[in-house]
Amino acid sequence: SSIDDWKRSDDYHNSFLIPKDDVLNAVVENNKEQGLPDIAVSTAQGKLLNLLVRSTGAKRILEVGTLGGYSTIWLARGLPADGNIVTLELSAHHAKVARENFATAGFASQIEVIEGPGAESLAKLHPEHAFDLVFIDADKPSNVTYFTEAKRLVRPGGIIIVDNVVRYGRVADLEYSDANVEGVRKLLLAIKGDQDVEATTIGTVGEKGYDGFIYAVRN
Ligand code: SAM
Repeated sequence: SSIDDWKRSDDYHNSFLIPKDDVLNAVVENNKEQGLPDIAVSTAQGKLLNLLVRSTGAKRILEVGTLGGYSTIWLARGLPADGNIVTLELSAHHAKVARENFATAGFASQIEVIEGPGAESLAKLHPEHAFDLVFIDADKPSNVTYFTEAKRLVRPGGIIIVDNVVRYGRVADLEYSDANVEGVRKLLLAIKGDQDVEATTIGTVGEKGYDGFIYAVRN
């Protein structure tokens, strides 16, 4: 199999399940024009995030790693009118583009972008109400820090999702090493035996290649 087959498969399924979307197309176009890297979640994965928000009734969402806010908009579309999202982004340029996209998508008032290093922003968060769902999708070497903070900030029964944890199977190839892979291995080691969460990894394949995410529930 190759990326072309996987993209064809995503396109095929999406053609039945995910309608043409002028707003998200404009967001993708804006991200491209403004030089953002093509590393957002796929369309099908974005829809899954949206469905998870809807099916769990999440109202308070935390995201680490905004980029242009493509995943954030999918999440926001699953929220009730009084729901909201806090999303953390290191790059001032990415944050600026994301804010434009949130306005385009009609979510300017429901999404707060906090600029700066994710670890510092997280340490300053002491919300009155715990989050229902945390989506971690930033610099992979900081996964353990983000996951530890997510456990502090999510309610019991809340969800923590960590993206890009399979990495073409390289995480499990012990001959292979890079900083991103090591960031995932350290996270797995930290979760092993952790009484605070129950978790599983779901491998995925599609237009973004062969990867996967950790789905964890806070005990
Ligand atoms: N969640 C986005 C989506 O699917 O549309 C994609 C996020 S992208 C994979 C990762 C983002 O994390 C980038 O925008 C990058 O600038 C940001 N980032 C990198 N290091 C960071 C840090 N230390 N703190 C916060 N964000 C960081």
